Amino acid sequence: MIENQVKDFDAVVIGAGFSGLYMLYRLREAGYSTRVIEAGDGVGGVWYWNRYPGAKCDIESIYYNYTFSKELYQEWNWTSKYPEQKEILSYLNYVADKFNLRKDIQFDTRINAAHYDEVSCRWKIQMNDGTSVTAKFFISGVGCLSATNVPNFKGLENFKGDWYHTGKWPQEKVDFRGKRVGVIGNGSSGVQAIPEIAKEAGHLTVFQRTPQYTIPARNYLYDPSFIQQTKENYEEIKRIMHGSPTGNGIQIRNVSALEESPEERSKVYEEAWQEGGFAFTSTYNDLFTNEEANKTAADFIRAKIKEIVNNPETAKKLLPDYFFGTKRPILDTGYYETYNRGNVTLVDVKNDPIVEITPNGLRTMAEEYELDILLFATGYDGMTGPLFNIDIRGRDGVTLKEKWEGGAAVRTYLGLGTAGFPNFFMITGPESPSVLVNMPTAIEQHVDWIADCIEYLTQNSLDTLEPTREAEEEWSRHCREVAEMTLYVKTDSWYTGANIKGKPRSFLIYLGGFVYYKQKCNEVSASGYDGFVLSSRMTLQ
Ligand code: NAP
Repeated sequence: MIENQVKDFDAVVIGAGFSGLYMLYRLREAGYSTRVIEAGDGVGGVWYWNRYPGAKCDIESIYYNYTFSKELYQEWNWTSKYPEQKEILSYLNYVADKFNLRKDIQFDTRINAAHYDEVSCRWKIQMNDGTSVTAKFFISGVGCLSATNVPNFKGLENFKGDWYHTGKWPQEKVDFRGKRVGVIGNGSSGVQAIPEIAKEAGHLTVFQRTPQYTIPARNYLYDPSFIQQTKENYEEIKRIMHGSPTGNGIQIRNVSALEESPEERSKVYEEAWQEGGFAFTSTYNDLFTNEEANKTAADFIRAKIKEIVNNPETAKKLLPDYFFGTKRPILDTGYYETYNRGNVTLVDVKNDPIVEITPNGLRTMAEEYELDILLFATGYDGMTGPLFNIDIRGRDGVTLKEKWEGGAAVRTYLGLGTAGFPNFFMITGPESPSVLVNMPTAIEQHVDWIADCIEYLTQNSLDTLEPTREAEEEWSRHCREVAEMTLYVKTDSWYTGANIKGKPRSFLIYLGGFVYYKQKCNEVSASGYDGFVLSSRMTLQ
């Protein structure tokens, strides 16, 4: 039991990333006392921690921002199509300063536990510094990808060199010059880091378990006149972001890949490949639902890999064979080309598995590789990981982990809340569209819904709100059914939880589209929160 509450807030929010900053802004504007608790020493969330070389966003800058403030949109100038981590972090710092948010953020602090007290209808929240606070509303802005995964390789503790995880990168620059560097992992983070590190390292060895499909980003600097135009079109950009299935400017062509001839398809794929970015994933409407359609895109990329990579043996190792796009699609800058460099070696650790980390490097079944620096680009315990890292307990002292059976039985209503955990909200929680929508758009929609909900409770003198078991069963079933109609569930990925040893397999991203999802959320609020139980303490006593 948590004791000695010091201060009571209307709301406590976990994390000062895109979610936490906007949640704080909305609640404070409405007059609620709010405290954000942030583990880092600055704002930024995922963009605070992911400082690895090459880190950038693969959503177009002009859509990868807030839309809640026209003034903010007019003031900020993005410099390139895909913003680098540094620029996004500067943007979030600018937001924090402009809206004077820092004064309500407690930095360098982690929430260890949050327990709901049924008598006081308050959350008791305990921090790692021994302090605790109470709050009526407990809101998670912890992010979907903040619990880093460092696989439990034998011997890591004996490694004499330096090792890093891409998602917990040090603030100071890591010097790769002349060093023997090893990278384990080639998802979005590895694919961005590998070409940059190869330019600097003495030798780079990439330990690849599953090859990836990646598409050239073809990033470029924006013309200032284009940025000026986007400012003039702020309302239209906002409308596109909040009214499209993916929350950004990407339009998927409403044509099946199987409707067009192989020649037409090649032309379409080639044009999209030359254009760069997610134009490629938007070429046909059935790439993620139809195996045959998917194969046409996969074959095109496999042919590109063979064309780009000079050494046929290396090219062969780089050929993926799972359904294209069912692991998170990746954009790159010179990734496959990097394997043509003399200082880069690719090791296939599916065929030659990693046995241990040694004091001097890494040993596979067949060979030992001497390394000065080892880099884990090994991803995250996604969706549930960050929530399970906190001891969150609802009614009757039941933990979230217990209720969700360690991830085997995740049940939420709209990904916003879960039965038995009153006044607990999740921003981009499991079973909401989250990472398969442009994150700032998904976040703004959730924050607005939560802020409006809190205001509704206040206006109606209500103390608590939580989903009914029936509503969350129905929503979770719907999520699973939609996911089963796609190819995503057929691939081992962090989306399915297959990247974490022992993690139950499930697909926790809602795939019914952002527009439908938003409409459903709006209907629920307009109905007076159908599917939720609302009560006041008067009725509880
Ligand atoms: P990831 O996609 O999960 O990739 C992890 C990599 O590590 C995979 O290649 C995986 O191989 C490998 N790996 C994991 N455990 C391993 C082990 N025990 N032995 C050997 N290899 C192992 O992680 P990520 O690259 O950090 O990306 C995670 C997500 O973050 C992305 O999907 C995306 O949503 C987000 N992200 C976005 C951007 C952006 O541009 N917006 C940039 C970076 C990250 P397997 O494939 O075999 O599991």
